[in-house]
Amino acid sequence: MVMSHAVIQKRPHEATVAPNLMDLDRLRSEWSWDAVRAELDLPDGLVNQAHECIDRHAAATPDKVAMIWEGSDGAIERYTFEEMRRQTNRFANVLKRIGIQKADRVFVFADRIPELYFAVFGTLKAGAISAPLFSAFGPEPVAERVRRAEGAMIVTTPHLLPKIDEIRGELPSVRHVMVIGHRAGATVDAANLDYAALMAEASDDFVTEPTGAEDWSIMHFTSGTTGLPKGAAHVHEAVVNHYATGKYALDLHPDDVYWCTADPGWVTGTSYGMFAPWSNGVTQVIYEGGFGAGRWFDIIERHRVTVWYTAPTAIRMLMKAGSGVPRERDLSSLRFTASVGEPLNPEGVVWGEEATGLPFHDNWWQTETGAIMIANYASMDIKPGSMGRPFPGITAGILDDEFNEVTEPMREGQLAIKTPWPSMFRTYWSDEERYRSRFKGEWYITGDRAKRDEDGYFWFVGRDDDVINTSGHLVGPFEVESALIEHPAVAEAGVIGKPDPIAMEIVKAFVSLKDGFEPSDQLRRELIGHTRQRLGPGVAPREIDFIPSLPKTRSGKIMRRLLKARELGLPEGDTSTLED
Ligand code: AMP
Repeated sequence: MVMSHAVIQKRPHEATVAPNLMDLDRLRSEWSWDAVRAELDLPDGLVNQAHECIDRHAAATPDKVAMIWEGSDGAIERYTFEEMRRQTNRFANVLKRIGIQKADRVFVFADRIPELYFAVFGTLKAGAISAPLFSAFGPEPVAERVRRAEGAMIVTTPHLLPKIDEIRGELPSVRHVMVIGHRAGATVDAANLDYAALMAEASDDFVTEPTGAEDWSIMHFTSGTTGLPKGAAHVHEAVVNHYATGKYALDLHPDDVYWCTADPGWVTGTSYGMFAPWSNGVTQVIYEGGFGAGRWFDIIERHRVTVWYTAPTAIRMLMKAGSGVPRERDLSSLRFTASVGEPLNPEGVVWGEEATGLPFHDNWWQTETGAIMIANYASMDIKPGSMGRPFPGITAGILDDEFNEVTEPMREGQLAIKTPWPSMFRTYWSDEERYRSRFKGEWYITGDRAKRDEDGYFWFVGRDDDVINTSGHLVGPFEVESALIEHPAVAEAGVIGKPDPIAMEIVKAFVSLKDGFEPSDQLRRELIGHTRQRLGPGVAPREIDFIPSLPKTRSGKIMRRLLKARELGLPEGDTSTLED
C-alpha cells in the first residue's frame, strides 16, 4: 500500500481561518442530521433545494455575489443572490406557462453559461426534475438518457442544437426544445422555444412549488457494467448533506470565493458546483471553458479564489505543465484545496504543497451517494494516497464477499455505506430492481474495493466491476460496444479501461470484423471517427485492436476481464467458464 509519503501534519491553530471542523471524532460523536436541518431554512417543514440555495440568501444578503462567471472569451459577469432569485423565478414561470408539471424531467444540454444555472434552479422551483447533460456528449448518449427518463423538455444552445435535431424524431416524450440563442447572437427557429423571448415576458415573482424532503429534484446518469446508463434520482432532502459537507469537508466560510472545476453534466458539478456552495451562501466562480494550466491559475489569481475543488486528471495535467506556471501567479488567496473523482496519487497531494503551498485534500463519493462520504479535512493530518475518513453521520465499512463487515485493518473488501443518509439516491429511474440490487441488509454496496487502516483512513483499491474511469468520468463498456457494433464492419466488440498516466484509464476496444472486412489503419480511424461522432470524444475509444474473435463465456458474455489481463500481460485467472 502507498504509505511511502510522510504524513502531512496539520496545525489548525496556525491557519488564517479556523476550520469549521476542528475535531472529527468529537463532531462525529455529537452528530445529528436534525441539527444540520436546523441551520437551514426549511419553511413550514418543506424543502426545496432552490429555496435553500438561492431565495434564503436573496432574503438575507440580496446584494452578495452568488456567481462570478467567466466566459471562454474572457467576458466576466456577476450575479447577486437577488438576481439569481429573479432569473430562476422567471424560468420557473416559463416552465409553468408551457405546461411542465411536477416531476417532469427537464434536460439541460448546454455549456457552462449562466442560463444553465438559471434553468436548473428554475426547474427545481417549479417542482420538476432537472437533468443536466455533458455538452460534449454525441447524439447517442443524449438520446439514450432522454429516452430512459422520458424527458419532457430539452434546453440547449444553437451550437448543440444539431445534435438534438438528429435524435428528436426518436424521442416522443419530448414536448419542447428550448434554445438559448441570445448569447450566441442567434435567432431561434419557430419550431423551438426561444429562451430569451419567454424569459423577457415572464414575471420575477414565483411561489416555489411546495416540495417535501422526498420529492424528486435532480437526476444524473451513471454507467454500470451491463446495460445502458442508469438515471440515479435524488430528492430535495439531499441539500442537508450538500450543506453539511460544504461546511465541514470543503470548509466553506461565508467570505469564501469558491471554484469547482467540474461540469454539471456530472454529479460533482451540481452537488459541489451548485448546491453545496450556494446552500452555504458562498460566492462561486464558474468558468465556461475547459482545462488550461495558465488560464486556470489566472482564474484563481484574478478572482482571489480561496477554496478550490478539482480532480486528479486535472492535477496530473497541471503537474505536467510544471510548477513554473503556478509560481508566476499570486495564489496567496487560496486557503483549502480538494480533489475527487479518481484515486489521487500521493505525488499529486505533495505537488499541491509545492505549487500552491497547500496539499490537495482527496475525498471520495459517487453519483449514488449524492455527497462526499469520505474525506480529508482541513484540521486532519493527510496520509497522501488515502481518501481520508468517513464524514460525521456516515458509516463506511469494508465487507467480505458474503457482505459481512471486516474489521481487521488493511484487509481489502467491498466499500459499503450504512443506510440511510439524506443525499442517498432514491432509485434508478424505471429500474427499481437494479436499485434494490445495490443494497445488502443495512449496507449500500458502492461497487468499489478499498481497505481501512488502523487509524480509520480509507484507501482506494479499484472498481469491483468493468466500469472504466477515464479522467474521472465513468464510462460503461456496454455503451461503447453498442456504438461499435452499429458499424457495418464490426461483428463483435469488447471494451476495457487501459491504464494511462494522465487520464488514469483510457477507453480501449477490441473488435472482430465481419466476413469481407479486413483490418487496416483506415478502418481503425473510421471506427474511432464513427464512435466519436455517435458518443462524443470523452466516451469513444482512443485505441482499437482488431482480433479474430473475442473471448466469451459459455453463455456468450464477452470476458472483458480476460481482454484486460491479456492487454496488460497479467495472469489470466480462472478461465473455466471460457467458451471452447
Ligand atoms: P461518479 O459516480 O461518476 O461520480 O464516479 C464515482 C466513482 O469514481 C467511484 O465509485 C470511484 O470508483 C471513483 N472515485 C471517486 N472519488 C474517488 C477517490 N477519491 N478515489 C478513488 N476513486 C474515486
